[in-house]
Amino acid sequence: MKLLAATRSGGKQREIRRVLEPAGVEVVFPDDLMLYQQAAEELLETGDTFEANARHKAEHFARRSGLATVADDSGLEVFSLGGAPGVRSRRWAGASGAPAAVDAANNGELLRRLTGAAEPRRRARYRCVLVLVRAPGAVPEVFEGACAGRILEAPEGSGGFGYDPLFWSDDLGKSFGEASAEEKDRVSHRGRALRALAAALGSES
Ligand code: IMP
Repeated sequence: MKLLAATRSGGKQREIRRVLEPAGVEVVFPDDLMLYQQAAEELLETGDTFEANARHKAEHFARRSGLATVADDSGLEVFSLGGAPGVRSRRWAGASGAPAAVDAANNGELLRRLTGAAEPRRRARYRCVLVLVRAPGAVPEVFEGACAGRILEAPEGSGGFGYDPLFWSDDLGKSFGEASAEEKDRVSHRGRALRALAAALGSES
C-alpha cells in the first residue's frame, strides 16, 4: 500500500523508511507529492500532547493528499525537568534555521539545564506517537512507543539526529549517537511504534 508519512524531518524520514519499506509499505513524503511547506504548518504542532499534534498533522496531510497518512509527534522527556522538553523538543531552545543548528542549540540547552545533576536527575525517556488516518475524515488510529535511558554529560557518537548523542539507551548500553541504524530501530521509541503500525497495516491488506 502507499502511505504518506507527514514529516519534513530528514532523521524521522530515514527511520520511517527503514522500518516500513521492508514491511511492504510504499512510503512517500510531502515533498514527493509537491506538498511544499506552508506557514500554517507550525500551527499544527501547538497542542499539549504528542497525540494531539500527530493527529492534527495526519488529518491536515490526509486532506491535502487524499492518501492514507501517518504523522509522528515525538520527543524527549526528562523526569526531573517535569517531562521537558516533551512536546516542545524541536523548538525548546528557540533556535531556527538548519536542522543541525537547531539540534545543537537544543542539546546545549539540555546540558545547561542538567549542569551538575547526578544520575537520578538525568533519567529520561523518548516517546513517539504515530497517528494513522486511512483516508481523509477516517477515524484516527494511534500507535505508541517509548524507550528509557539517561542524559549524558557530554555527547557520545554522532549517529542519529536530535538529542541522540546525549541519550544513553538502557536497552543498548550505549548512546543512540553510537548505535548503528539497526540497533536504534530495534529498541527506539519510533522503531517500536512503527512496528505496531506495520502490524496494523499488514493485518488489513
Ligand atoms: P516533532 O517534529 O515536533 O515531533 O519534534 C521532534 C523532536 O523531538 C526532534 O526535533 C528532536 O528534537 C526530538 N526527537 C524525537 N525523536 C527523536 C529521536 O529519535 N532522536 C533524537 N531526537 C528526537
